[in-house]
Amino acid sequence: CGIVGYAGPKSAVDVVVDGLRRLEYRGYDSAGVCVVAGGRLALTKRAGKLANLEKALSDAPLPVSGLAIGHTRWATHGGPTDTNAHPHASANGRVALVHNGIIENFAQLRAELAADGIVPVSQTDTEIAAHLLGQAVTTGVGLTEALRIVCNRLEGAFTLVAVDVDQPDTVVAARRNSPLVVGVGEGENFLASDVAAFIEHTREAIELGQDQVVTITPTSVEVITFDGEPATVHPYHVSWDLSA
Ligand code: GLU
Repeated sequence: CGIVGYAGPKSAVDVVVDGLRRLEYRGYDSAGVCVVAGGRLALTKRAGKLANLEKALSDAPLPVSGLAIGHTRWATHGGPTDTNAHPHASANGRVALVHNGIIENFAQLRAELAADGIVPVSQTDTEIAAHLLGQAVTTGVGLTEALRIVCNRLEGAFTLVAVDVDQPDTVVAARRNSPLVVGVGEGENFLASDVAAFIEHTREAIELGQDQVVTITPTSVEVITFDGEPATVHPYHVSWDLSA
């Protein structure tokens, strides 16, 4: 439902949870956040209101990191439980991702994963994409190429935002039939399902086109198509007032 990603010098958890709060008006049933720190994924997620996630984060803070992804979920596959909440990590612990939308061919993909001995821990369609991405990065291609390959195997509607422990300064995202916008800052960049998530930090935005993949670091934004070609981007200035 709501998605936020961040790469920059600030406390990424704070930026992401703050962004999720700005997207609360959309409605949701669970929330979660994942950081990359010390070569590992660290992940906290809770069913219920953002307050439940914030309580969990204050009881057991995540490691300090400048890289995070977060999600508020509106359940479509699997009930609103802690386990079904996003982010979802791959079985090999390499990647984690959040997802808006529905992956229509998840049952077939889940059967393929089962043949490789991978059994999901949640009931979500989303977790299947996490395992596929985890497998793809182990082939040695970078996270961007891995996500591009996985997206070409997915049917349905999705915005996906992912991190990889081997690329601790990078967040990668992709979209088909579901919105995704990049917030371009100075020494920091944002990804979100809606500009409301980052408007406090920057008003320079890039709306991702259909079937595109974007890679952000604190200082770069690169967009390619699902075919692997460089994409033309159309930056714009968000001039409307959201402070009310
Ligand atoms: N289909 C996914 C799920 O049920 C994502 C739902 C959403 O868009 O929040 O977990």
